Amino acid sequence: MPELPEVETTRRGIAPHLEGRRIERVVLRRGDLRWPIPAQITEQLPGQQITSVERRAKYLLLHTAVGSALAHLGMSGMLRVLPPDTALGKHDHYDFVLDSGRVLRFTDPRRFGCLLWQAPGSTHDLLGTLGPEPLSAAFDGERLWRLSRGRRSAVKVFIMDQAVVVGVGNIYASEALFAAGIDPRRAAGRVSRQRYQALAAAIKRILAHAIERGGTTLRDFLNPDGAPGYFEQELAVYGREGEPCRRCGGAVAMRVLGQRSTFFCQHCQR
Ligand SMILES: [Zn+2]
Repeated sequence: MPELPEVETTRRGIAPHLEGRRIERVVLRRGDLRWPIPAQITEQLPGQQITSVERRAKYLLLHTAVGSALAHLGMSGMLRVLPPDTALGKHDHYDFVLDSGRVLRFTDPRRFGCLLWQAPGSTHDLLGTLGPEPLSAAFDGERLWRLSRGRRSAVKVFIMDQAVVVGVGNIYASEALFAAGIDPRRAAGRVSRQRYQALAAAIKRILAHAIERGGTTLRDFLNPDGAPGYFEQELAVYGREGEPCRRCGGAVAMRVLGQRSTFFCQHCQR
């Protein structure tokens, strides 16, 4: 599933080919993805210039003067900028035809992605309750410590709460807790301020590193055969149940927390 670093890599891959370009036509090959595609997409966007491409959590916003297209990649989606004659696949659901002659094309076999509309000057409901971006100054260990007081939920479930901080998906939550030496099962309210500072720093470092690695895939956003965004990751614990911990050599454990697989080392994390 595309996580925050993959979505940011998508933004960096497509933005230079969209910003300043005019949308000549919008081609929808179905009326809905996860949700119905609102009429404004086809009625308002043609003729508009894309002023900027923004990411908020795992959403991408294509801003124009009359409103913004709000796109999510879902479980399996990808957005690429392609030559106009690129053959259509059966999972290609919409195109934005640009005045450069290129086409922004969305491909998604599972159709959990979405294409929605945000009116100018407003914030879509899906974005209204989100916490701060993990790489912004608004997110730090102090925030984690303050919001976690009295919380009994497991610290891993707490840091994956989108109202606390956005973009800490299942993989990155396990990895950051390992890096900070915190047992993912520990009650969020029983983690010290100092350890939350280490955890916030680990989250920032791991996400920034993943975005940096994603940079090597940027050219694939212009390649019809490429599958951008799902880059190989160097994982310390995620998906490594029973394999040796990279720090102590003990076996990596797996437990289900909040219905999600959670990987950790019982010796290195407490
Ligand atoms: Zn260990």
